Amino acid sequence: MNAEAAVAKPMTTHSPEEIERVAEWINTEEYKEKNFAREALVVNPAHMCQPLGAQMVAHGFEKTMPFIHGSQGCVSYFRSTFTRHFREPASAAADAMTEDGAVFGGQANFFEGVENTIALYKPKMLAIYTTCMPEVIGDDLNAYVKNARARDLIPEGLPTPYANTPSFNGSHIHGYDAMLKNILQYLTEGKKVAGKCTGKLNLIPGFDGNTANLREYKRYCELMEIPCTMLADISETFDSVCDGTYRPYPGGTKLEDTAESINGKATISLQKYSTSTTMKFISAEFAGESLTMPMPFGIKATDAFLLKLSELFDKPVPEALKAERGRAVDAITDGHQYIHGKKFAVVGDPDYLLGIVTFLLETGAIPKHIVCSRATKKFQQEIQALLDSSPFGEGCGIYINKDLWHLRSLLMTDPCDAIIGDTHAKWAARDAKIPLFRVGMPILDRINLHRTPIIGYNGAINLLTQIANKFLDIKDETCEDPWFEMMR
Ligand code: SF4
Repeated sequence: MNAEAAVAKPMTTHSPEEIERVAEWINTEEYKEKNFAREALVVNPAHMCQPLGAQMVAHGFEKTMPFIHGSQGCVSYFRSTFTRHFREPASAAADAMTEDGAVFGGQANFFEGVENTIALYKPKMLAIYTTCMPEVIGDDLNAYVKNARARDLIPEGLPTPYANTPSFNGSHIHGYDAMLKNILQYLTEGKKVAGKCTGKLNLIPGFDGNTANLREYKRYCELMEIPCTMLADISETFDSVCDGTYRPYPGGTKLEDTAESINGKATISLQKYSTSTTMKFISAEFAGESLTMPMPFGIKATDAFLLKLSELFDKPVPEALKAERGRAVDAITDGHQYIHGKKFAVVGDPDYLLGIVTFLLETGAIPKHIVCSRATKKFQQEIQALLDSSPFGEGCGIYINKDLWHLRSLLMTDPCDAIIGDTHAKWAARDAKIPLFRVGMPILDRINLHRTPIIGYNGAINLLTQIANKFLDIKDETCEDPWFEMMR
């Protein structure tokens, strides 16, 4: 077929004038009102599927094969999202349910899939979760796992934690939470020893597509001489070395360390909304103190995190970290003038939004539109309290359970200087003719951003540098004076 014949025929045709009229109309207040009145339609939501979150957890444990009970198309989407975001392989097995599975139930697929996966990939653990199809037809995962064991399809001693992850009821952060809680429950069962304390910190980063953030947490612990087990550690899995050897299971938290985590000295989660049921389980079952803190975005939140570590483990904050703090304060002092007073639209996961808004308020920027596609009233209240704590939060709007098409309307009627969010916000940024600072997941159209930390003191410098320099680039590129100043 030649190129001319391959051109798609439009279903309906409109005059250029009509197209222009509608293109202008969707930028108006009138359209925004209609857009915000819609109830039964979501356009480009800024979240991913429940099972994708479960898969992120599975990749964070040693020699663990993610195993998906469900349809193949969903699985390809999860794997390709990880691979495109991290530019690393994301091996996962699936039992590839099709029409007959949807009618008769997926147990036959499950048996065959589990048997093949164990024989071919020899995992140390299978982390099992579901897509929407088996959830809709009511497949009983608990019974399937028991039946597979009864038929000796699963070897004795191979852990098979599983989680139900229906994507029509929650997002990736809920899948992350469900899978993590179930893995911890499975591996720590019967391991609690009265009076035993490993002296270690259990650190839960939560759903974070930035491997450098996880490395940064671990570096802090090393500098403070605090022994740490990071629970669901994807930092090696998705940032592994390239030395000519293919490793099907690079990195991940050791299963023995995970089992022992129940006897730890303390557990800290750095994401409240992606670990709520996990932390309920940990508070009830684990030894030692357990607490949830906000992600350490900016100076104040990083101070709070390090001081808490210092208090819990009776270790001083080392001089090296105090120097890092000093450099971050210096960098913000030098650079905050370029983002002070600038208006931002921010979109993403609840925990990330809390962190980014904290950072913006700290640097005198205005988080004008805050959009979260899956959130609760509690989250809304928490963000509101954060906005109320700063003069730069005045007049900012929080839009929960809204999507990127809502965000576009907000930007066209009440403009901002930039968006902070994942790759999917790029169309809104293009229409609004403003830059998009890629933060969160997925980031599919830029490379290596997950290798630069954005939390902690160095993260504060990196974020500020990225944002301020882009604004300076724009000034340089658009300045009409041919003799424009070198310094700004
Ligand atoms: S929403 Fe459900 S059916 Fe769609 S990709 Fe996600 S898991 Fe699969």
